[in-house]
Amino acid sequence: MGKVYIVGAGPGDPELLTLRAHRLLSDADVILYDALVGREILNIAKPNCLKVYVGKRDGRHSISQEEINELLYKFSRVYDKVVRLKGGDPFIFGRGGEELLYLKSMGVEVEVVPGVSSALSAPASANIPLTHRGVSSSVAIVNGHPNREIDWSSFRGIDTLVVLMGVKNRQKIALQLLNSGRDPNEPVAFVEKATTPEERVIFTNLLELSREPPQVNTPAVMIIGPVVRVGEELRSLLGTTLSA
Ligand code: SAH
Repeated sequence: MGKVYIVGAGPGDPELLTLRAHRLLSDADVILYDALVGREILNIAKPNCLKVYVGKRDGRHSISQEEINELLYKFSRVYDKVVRLKGGDPFIFGRGGEELLYLKSMGVEVEVVPGVSSALSAPASANIPLTHRGVSSSVAIVNGHPNREIDWSSFRGIDTLVVLMGVKNRQKIALQLLNSGRDPNEPVAFVEKATTPEERVIFTNLLELSREPPQVNTPAVMIIGPVVRVGEELRSLLGTTLSA
C-alpha cells in the first residue's frame, strides 16, 4: 500500500518548487497533475513515472472530483509513491482538502506538501507588496468565480484584495466593489502568467474596470488596493535602475 502526497507545484517557475516537492517529483511512481502545472516541472519525474492529466480544459471538467478521488485511491493500492500535483498551494482553491478528506476516510496514508501560492507570489513577482507600512495591513484572498455569490461588501475594511479565477468576472467584480462603497480611483493590477517568461502586468482602476475592462489573459491574479500604487512606483524605480 502506497502513500499519496498532495503537493503544491508553485506558480510556474520550477525554481519556486519547494525542495520537498522536487524530491517527491523525482521519486514518484505516478503523478496526477492539473492544468496549471508546466512541462518543465513534470520533466523532473523519473523516465518510467506515469503522468496522468486530471485538469480541466476550456473551463469544462474533463474529469470529475469524484473520479480524481477514486483514481488517487486506486493508484495508492498499486504504487508506492503517488504524487497529486497542484498549481500553487494545494489548499488555496485547489480542492486539496477534499482529496485529503476522501483519502483519509479510505484509510490511505496522505501527506500535504505546501506550495508557493500564486496569491502571494504573483504580486511579489510583479513587485507589488500585499502589505506595506502605512498603506495596507490586511489582505483577503477571494475566489472570483465562486459557486455561491460573494458578498463583496464584507471586505470593506480590508486594505488589499487578491482575487483568483477572477478574469472572466472582472467587470462584474469591479461593479460590485464600487457598489459596496470602494473608491472608484482605487488602483487594480492583473499579473498574468506570473513567474513565467510571459509574465505581464496590467494596471487599471475600479472605475475603468467597471466601464471598459482591459484585455487580460489567463491565468492571472487580480490585486485591488492602494498597494498597487506602491507597486507601480517600485516598478518605475526598478526600471530606471535597470536602464541606468
Ligand atoms: N492553488 C493555486 C490556485 C488555483 S485557482 C495557487 O495557490 O496558486 C487558479 C487561479 O490561480 C487562476 O485562475 C489564477 O487566478 C491563479 N494563478 C495560478 N497560477 C498563476 C500564475 N502563474 N500567474 C497568475 N495567476 C495564477
